[in-house]
Amino acid sequence: MMKLLLHTCCAPCLLSPFERLQDNKLALFYYNPNIHPFEEFNQRLAWVEQFAEEAKTDLITYHYNPDQYLNKVAFDTTERCEKCYELRLKETARVAQMKGFDTFTSTLLVSPYQKHELIIEMGTAASKKFDIPFYYEDFRPYYKDAQKTAKELGIYRQKYCGCKFSLEEREAELKARKTKVKE
Ligand code: SF4
Repeated sequence: MMKLLLHTCCAPCLLSPFERLQDNKLALFYYNPNIHPFEEFNQRLAWVEQFAEEAKTDLITYHYNPDQYLNKVAFDTTERCEKCYELRLKETARVAQMKGFDTFTSTLLVSPYQKHELIIEMGTAASKKFDIPFYYEDFRPYYKDAQKTAKELGIYRQKYCGCKFSLEEREAELKARKTKVKE
């Protein structure tokens, strides 16, 4: 049994990793300064809080501080995902090390829409920096079932990754689709 700190991006992505890791001593870690706007951050947090309460699992949360993310990407958004993963995984590793966990990982590893290899790379770098093992498991095969369960349970499922740039991309995509339908 490991004492594992599980970086948690949202409740739907938490379902499968939590189930697969539940034989360990788990704590959830909601550190996502990338999320925009505040209402979205709060909505995702509220569902994670509810999950933690029902599962009787510890949850570490942070106040909303988007500048921590924006300061990293404001002048160059092209590499934003790398910086976003780096920020969140380094903080997870730092806190895991400080609080005496054996290892850390992230629910980001469940989504086929995330840059999986880059998450591994950033998790490994964070592991080296804070001298604590990064637990890797490919949770992606469980993604579809987890999304289905989240839908059945009425868990909030967001429509974009999280940052303001991904929100703008999503809005532009929807607009383009509408224009196409009208043509
Ligand atoms: S698209 Fe997602 S992973 Fe990439 S920077 Fe935005 S929130 Fe982070």
